[in-house]
Amino acid sequence: MGSIPIYSRQKPRARLFCKCARSIQFRVPDARGRDALEEGMNQDLLRRLPKMDVMLNSPRMKELSARHPYAIVRETLREYLDELRSAVSSGRVSELPDREAVCREVGRRLEGGGYSLRRVINGSGVILHTNLGRAPIGEEAARHLAETASGYCSLEYDLEAGARGNRAARVEQLICSLTGAEDALVVNNNAGAVFLMLNTLARGRKTAVSRGEQVEIGGSFRIPEIMRESGAELIEIGTTNKTHLSDYERAVSVEGASVIMKVHRSNFHIEGFTESVELPALAELAGRTGALLLYDCGAAFLRAPESPALREGVDAARCIRDGADVICFSGDKLLGSAQSGILAGKKKYIGEMRKNQLARMLRIDKLSLAALETSLRFCCDPQLAAEKIPVLRMLSMTPGRCREEAERLRRMILEKAPEAAADVCAVSDGMGGGALPGAVLQGAGVAVEMPGLSGNELEKKLRENVVPIVSLVRDGRVLISVRTLFGRDFDDIAAAFALLGGGNEKSRETT
Ligand SMILES: *Cc1c(COP(=O)(O)O)cnc(C)c1O
Repeated sequence: MGSIPIYSRQKPRARLFCKCARSIQFRVPDARGRDALEEGMNQDLLRRLPKMDVMLNSPRMKELSARHPYAIVRETLREYLDELRSAVSSGRVSELPDREAVCREVGRRLEGGGYSLRRVINGSGVILHTNLGRAPIGEEAARHLAETASGYCSLEYDLEAGARGNRAARVEQLICSLTGAEDALVVNNNAGAVFLMLNTLARGRKTAVSRGEQVEIGGSFRIPEIMRESGAELIEIGTTNKTHLSDYERAVSVEGASVIMKVHRSNFHIEGFTESVELPALAELAGRTGALLLYDCGAAFLRAPESPALREGVDAARCIRDGADVICFSGDKLLGSAQSGILAGKKKYIGEMRKNQLARMLRIDKLSLAALETSLRFCCDPQLAAEKIPVLRMLSMTPGRCREEAERLRRMILEKAPEAAADVCAVSDGMGGGALPGAVLQGAGVAVEMPGLSGNELEKKLRENVVPIVSLVRDGRVLISVRTLFGRDFDDIAAAFALLGGGNEKSRETT
């Protein structure tokens, strides 16, 4: 023991459970009510469980240790043996794998480096998949990030002056020129940006928010609670489906609200009899009464390419033009860059936020900053942005283009796994990740069936691939949408099907 349980993060429950199982065995070996015979069998199996040291000295394990750090191999083996021990103790397993099978399983777990955070192939067609890391950054952004991160960098160093500089000055300038805002500030994420904005500008002040906009964003980020925590006093106005300008007017003139906050309904949309007040009208009211106008856009884009789906989205520059005092939005939603929160607006307010101690706690790290700068530079040219920013590229794929790609994938799969049945079919992709909730993107995918496997079994096997493939199950078949695939994913998917096909057992044995 004593080593860092790197793998316990991945399967904390299994690990905890096996610890309990072990302590039960030692403390109450003759627990009453247990079937003595079964107990004996379990004890016998437990005794025959491969020993750590013996296993580690086996040639197969030595081979694995040559390719992976020894401590990781040992920890992976320990975790697997612990799982087996716990399965035996609880009677879930009545037969042990032989040593060769144990080695094979450990080898499988070490594929992909044995990391808990691994590259996966997103065949779901959901562009900003919250479980899959939201926005994948582009190649150039990743390269710039790796280059600046693997050595020292000019993070807070002004190379011209040879003195300390502001880490995000350049990025903030770019945001200003892209949005037309007087000033900008970047922080760790948008949740942090909202909190910083409220804590700095609405603390101790009555803040009017429509009942139709008191949303909860994934991961239990709830506007009413965030407001309370930040020190803002929430004045709820309107109803769930309708809020009129007169509701805001009353909040300001009768209830004494001095801040108006608008929140984008990022992850849902309501249909039917609805009414909400747009920014220009709110800005007019704010200007007339001296109230402050804040807007949490959630997801916003900057000079994005023409795309029907984006018509629904929030254009950051437009919000500034429409008169918001401060807006904030995520860097890794429609902007398609690294996790970050962007605040833009009037110089005076941004300056106040910059001075808040919270800004230091929420500051953006150098990796995200490097990626963000790369993406923002591409945003200066919408055409380039659509090519170089994966989220925008995926968003602008036409149904026809999706069908071509799906046809290409279908042929590649059939070439590697002739026994598969594969068809191109239409799918409805989505933006996901709390952006463009109403948008449906007409796309295409490949529906695949393999002999002897149900849709769910095939889905599981794809998920267990060297590069895990996340797919959908529809009508008993697995469905892979092509919108969210990268070029290299096509080969990896075809290779996965080749493994699942005839050559299956052999190719597995040799790994
Ligand atoms: C997504 C979202 C947030 C939180 O942004 P993160 O980047 O996830 O921190 C806050 N407000 C709205 C309206 C959102 O859509």
